[in-house]
Amino acid sequence: MSGNLKLALQKKGRLTEKSLELLSLCGLDIENYSERLVVSVRNFPMDILFLRDDDIPEYVQDGVADIGIVGENVVSEKQTQSLILEKLGFGRCSLLFAYPEGKEIKKIEDINEKTIATTYPRILKEYLRTNNLNAKVIELRGSVEIAPSLGVADLICDIVSTGNTLMMNKLKKSFKVFDSQAVLISAAGELKDERKNDVLRDLLRRIRSVKTAHSSKYLMMNIPKESLDKIIGIIPSLKSPTVLHLADENMLAVHAVIPSDKFWEIIEDLKSAGASGVLLLPIENLIQ
Ligand code: ATP
Ligand code: ZN
Repeated sequence: MSGNLKLALQKKGRLTEKSLELLSLCGLDIENYSERLVVSVRNFPMDILFLRDDDIPEYVQDGVADIGIVGENVVSEKQTQSLILEKLGFGRCSLLFAYPEGKEIKKIEDINEKTIATTYPRILKEYLRTNNLNAKVIELRGSVEIAPSLGVADLICDIVSTGNTLMMNKLKKSFKVFDSQAVLISAAGELKDERKNDVLRDLLRRIRSVKTAHSSKYLMMNIPKESLDKIIGIIPSLKSPTVLHLADENMLAVHAVIPSDKFWEIIEDLKSAGASGVLLLPIENLIQ
């Protein structure tokens, strides 16, 4: 194989599309990857390996891949010496306890002496140990949510995002063990190849820029001249807003980059202060 940086991605699953989308927002032009194990990136010295997500931490540790994108839940469960380089903000989910009717878990001690089915035995056992709880752990490969109705376990400890699967199986959410999202990992320590290190630094810079851009929006509006101080006081801008003259000399245009989630909090105040023609635009990249 080439001397390119090797990135492991989940072959087919919940993280695949979002991972590829992130890379594409980073400006990487990825070859059509359908059903191939390795594809190269046309405009970046990187190859992508498509693997089962459970194998990614180990392949990264063994140097088969230099870096990987995988859920924090998998990283923790595999207990490899992986280094989390960056949290990626997608693939969010939680590992939590869920119980069927009649097996209520009101306080965490109610777990004592119960049988718990999970696909995350290591994380669960660690949790039981640190909380001084004593329960029997049953390790399953999948379909944990049906274990209580089969009489295999009293409750389950499983990954949940929306909670739909739990609802369908008449299970109720209880205590949370772990919050997870997709992360970029490498093996512990720097990459030995200096050229690969440079490529990795470039990739990380691009990923961070995409992340900031996505949590920010470009806000534009027109305001009466006399409202300027008031408007500037309302805008939670990352930098000082841009103020432009308009043909109508009683009016100004104000532009600013704001955190996306603040827009709905400030829009009414902006309007009361006289703002009109308010526009909110997405930002593709943001270098700070
Ligand atoms: P593979 O065939 O690669 O082993 P998988 O079935 O183990 O796939 P997926 O279900 O595709 O894995 O989930 C991949 C990752 O997505 C999980 O490890 C977790 O980090 C994240 N994730 C987000 N939401 C959920 C969810 N509702 N259920 C399971 N995983 C989720
Ligand atoms: Zn898996």
